[in-house]
Amino acid sequence: MVVDVFIHEIKGGSMTIKKINELVDKLHEMGVKQSQLAWVQYTAGYDFGLEESYKDMMTFMKDKEHFKIVEDHRALELSDLDKRRVDIVYKSFKPYHLSDEVNALALDIQKKTNELSQILNTFRFKLDNKSVTSVDLAQILSNDENRENRKQAYLAKNQINQPMVDGGFLELVEMRKKMAKLNGFDNFVAYKLDHEELSPDIFENWIEEVHEMLPEMEKMRSEYAMKYLGEENLMPWDEAYVENQLAPSLSKNVDMTNYYYHLSRLFKSFGFDLNDYNITYDLFPRANKSEWGYNFPIDTQKDSRILANVKNQFHEFGVLLHETGHGVHSFLNDKDEKILNMGISGIVTEGIANLFGAQMLDPLFFKEFFEDDFEQVQAEFESIKKWKKMNALRAVSRIFFDQRFYTTDNKNLDDVYKMYWSVQKEVLNVEPGDYEPPWAFLIHHTTHPIYLHNYFMGDVTCEMLIQTFNKSNGTSKISEKPLEFGKFLYEDVVKPSGQYTYGELFERISKEKFSLKYMK
Ligand SMILES: [Zn+2]
Repeated sequence: MVVDVFIHEIKGGSMTIKKINELVDKLHEMGVKQSQLAWVQYTAGYDFGLEESYKDMMTFMKDKEHFKIVEDHRALELSDLDKRRVDIVYKSFKPYHLSDEVNALALDIQKKTNELSQILNTFRFKLDNKSVTSVDLAQILSNDENRENRKQAYLAKNQINQPMVDGGFLELVEMRKKMAKLNGFDNFVAYKLDHEELSPDIFENWIEEVHEMLPEMEKMRSEYAMKYLGEENLMPWDEAYVENQLAPSLSKNVDMTNYYYHLSRLFKSFGFDLNDYNITYDLFPRANKSEWGYNFPIDTQKDSRILANVKNQFHEFGVLLHETGHGVHSFLNDKDEKILNMGISGIVTEGIANLFGAQMLDPLFFKEFFEDDFEQVQAEFESIKKWKKMNALRAVSRIFFDQRFYTTDNKNLDDVYKMYWSVQKEVLNVEPGDYEPPWAFLIHHTTHPIYLHNYFMGDVTCEMLIQTFNKSNGTSKISEKPLEFGKFLYEDVVKPSGQYTYGELFERISKEKFSLKYMK
């Protein structure tokens, strides 16, 4: 896709901020090196010098002359866009100029995070004393009719709780708490949200909104528990199974070696040709590789890499579409707008990825897999969409659990379990179970704290984009006019996204303030 972004004179910033751009060029180069190192660590378990690269970055950021350049530019008369650029750069340099104590703590945090992510990436769960991949566990949870087997598969994931606590997870939490205080914030949640240009008020009404939806959600859940399990309550190890009962085609065996063809075909219909980009895929599980799905946007418009763990089932395309959404996004951004790209909200990033992930359930994508039973599959996927939407607000308990680490004094694993159950009770009215809940496997607690809201708010953003587009195009779903939607996504979301904070961008597009009403 050939595009012409911004009026030429202001591309990348005016001459007035030339020196800022030079600083950012060097910073960007170091960032590229760091992502390359992280890619190797996450795909193969080798650490070829991540800590060194953090130190180099730190030395660069805390350099007093560098910071003076940034500060001097803040005092200048600037255009709105240059002002935004200088603000973004100022925000990233400023934390390194508080005190030596803060800088030393920042390095300690990086080091501990790196150690813990190594433990996570190389850990393998065991079932009946045999090593299993998370893909295997997911397949048991979706397909095994024996409830006890599913429970064992679900609980296998708690095997990493103790090693992470032993490895220093709670110390990491304490370091982050201290970091927030040293930066003048009440707590780490407020500190992180400020970094993302979000106000802590955004979460204010969420619990009430969930409570409002709970009766209807519970009704649907117990209805399905009765229908598919003959039980009154749906347990965490039943959820994927019930989904698979609702839509058995989700676990249809597919030929994953042909993944690129299917991904290309979907993105092509939205006007994005994967062959124009350089996206590398590492898709199948192996030892010492992270069990999650990632996009490493190594270098904007040049090099983007996807790590995932799939095998042979249709629903695994969900993660591939999501990560490819990130990959495409990093090629739609403008490599010459390094600063504005730093200002793109995580919510927008995850929103775009979720938007493409959700296309898995649209005929545009799935038709080719289900030529013979198309109508039945379409009905299955409509019911799974309804189910997912009804349950979407449950994510709030995960988001709050992650946040609660930073306002709770957890001394040991038992304290964490207590905290887990108290959040479950508070948000979802779930009584404590007689088992040790898996939590530490969720790598976000370690590497991306206070990040989970991005997926959920990203989903809200998707809904808003879809509704806004349908309204002005007279369509009932975006796949009726995919090319037009791709253009809308590029022009109205991707292109301006770095210029505005998330809240501003949301309002510009929807003409309304952010709210959860789009999820109802
Ligand atoms: Zn993502």
